[in-house]
Amino acid sequence: MTAPVETKHPVQIMDGLLQLKVPIPNNPLGWVLPYLIEGRDGWTLVDSGWNVPEAADALEQQLNDAGVGFGKLKTLLVTHIHPDHYGLAGRVKERSGAKVIIHQRERDMIRSRYKNPEQLLATIGDWLAMQGVPRDNVEDLRTSAMPVRAFVDAVQPDEVVWGGERLEIGRFLFEVWWTPGHSPGHICFLERGQKFILTGDHVLPTITPNVSMHPQQQGNPLGDYIASLERLEGLDVKTVLPAHEYTFDDLRGRLRGIHRHHEERLREMIEVIGDAPRTGYEVAKGVKWATGSFDTFSFWMQRAAIGETLAHLEYLVIEDRLQRFMRDGVQYYAKPDDTQDA
Ligand SMILES: [Zn+2]
Ligand SMILES: [Zn+2]
Repeated sequence: MTAPVETKHPVQIMDGLLQLKVPIPNNPLGWVLPYLIEGRDGWTLVDSGWNVPEAADALEQQLNDAGVGFGKLKTLLVTHIHPDHYGLAGRVKERSGAKVIIHQRERDMIRSRYKNPEQLLATIGDWLAMQGVPRDNVEDLRTSAMPVRAFVDAVQPDEVVWGGERLEIGRFLFEVWWTPGHSPGHICFLERGQKFILTGDHVLPTITPNVSMHPQQQGNPLGDYIASLERLEGLDVKTVLPAHEYTFDDLRGRLRGIHRHHEERLREMIEVIGDAPRTGYEVAKGVKWATGSFDTFSFWMQRAAIGETLAHLEYLVIEDRLQRFMRDGVQYYAKPDDTQDA
């Protein structure tokens, strides 16, 4: 897979379907790709961008270039509530009056994450300490996501979906696919007739999305993610329209690649644990990261790395490849039967 040459957006994917490209300043992702779909009595936008002037201006400019503007926008579909997808939702709603549609599980996190985060912040502090983060570092890691809140103009949805709904928009009939993992209420939109799928952050051409444990994302997020990938395996899809990077065609090959990536990560984490019990924090420091060494990461990146590590460790516990236990308020992971001599 090679990245296509730089093109000017909006790009027409097919009749009635346009791809926009909205910058994410000072972020390695570079941009988000919202989509514009022509309906019978107005247009639907899928995702928006960070709530910063560069992104807001780019979005407005491209809506105007498409001849749609805010005036003809009737609906905003949000794949998930991360700032790069949901950040401008409030502004889009205010300017256009568009109906906002989000998955129920994402809706449930809006208030605690973006409106009244105090309770969640307290929980995150305790939770980080339980994962073995040294006391001196807990405060910096705990509050590291707070600046991100500024990039979100939060708005409550007018409608929620659960997955399985059919949305008829103009000449298209979209199926809503609930694909939890990267975020608990992440959704994709499948168009069977035209053989394309809008994958949000669930499947990207070269990047693997962060799949993290978090006080708001317990259970087995990596297991959820892998199951959500497997559900896409048999689909007859010719075009994959992701929310970052670029359009691609080989969905099946990419699904295999992501599987392999996580299988390697799981093996690497078992190796780092070796014969002694380790905390999630210790394993996060011990594994290799494509973006550099853990100790050079920003606090925000360190927290993402810890969350991602824990998602893998919990997956291994559920698969009986590791066991988990608590000692003095700290959670440890070990190979089966290593706890006694710990
Ligand atoms: Zn995301
Ligand atoms: Zn994203």
